[in-house]
Amino acid sequence: MDDAFFETLRQRSEKFFRLSHHDKSHVERVYNLALRIAREENADVDVVKAAVLLHDIARAMEDEGKIDDHAAEGAKMAREILDEIGFPKEKIGEVIHCIEVHRFRKGMKAETLEAKILQDADRLDIIGAVGIARVFTRGGWSNIPIHDPAIKPKERYDGKSETSVNHIYEKILKVKGTFNTETARRIAEERHEFVKTFLERLLKEWKGEI
Ligand code: FE
Repeated sequence: MDDAFFETLRQRSEKFFRLSHHDKSHVERVYNLALRIAREENADVDVVKAAVLLHDIARAMEDEGKIDDHAAEGAKMAREILDEIGFPKEKIGEVIHCIEVHRFRKGMKAETLEAKILQDADRLDIIGAVGIARVFTRGGWSNIPIHDPAIKPKERYDGKSETSVNHIYEKILKVKGTFNTETARRIAEERHEFVKTFLERLLKEWKGEI
């Protein structure tokens, strides 16, 4: 598939994004990361590109409480779009699988290299400097505090954090061990260290120590 095809797909997907923590720039970053991993791991690049562009098209609906699971809903919507724009029929199932399993839910396992790559690239975007930026953007959207030393982070993340800093402890710092590919693990390691450094500094500034 040529660049023009994916450009059409990109444009088709853009109208679904309306929240700044899951907007078209998230898709763009995941696209670049996924391509980098796909090339290093010798994956089917067309499947990876299509899966990335469509993986979060139902995400805003989930965040707005209109649906339960954006992965399942997004997969359904993606099938229609891919059919309509003439994506090779024999590869549509592979793209759909990537979208269905991209969020590491219980009972959902990435069976293909391409699905593993989408999971990895999507997860890399929640750590590092970009990941931190997204935590605070999301925190502002939900109107939770940046930090509150009186509220300790939960041992086990239950899908909701009370402060942005706690979200970093409860989710962002726990992502490192969950990557599928060697390439992503390498990138994650470095990003993880940056998040730790950022937190240490933020907590010192919070107390007026630096
Ligand atoms: Fe995503």
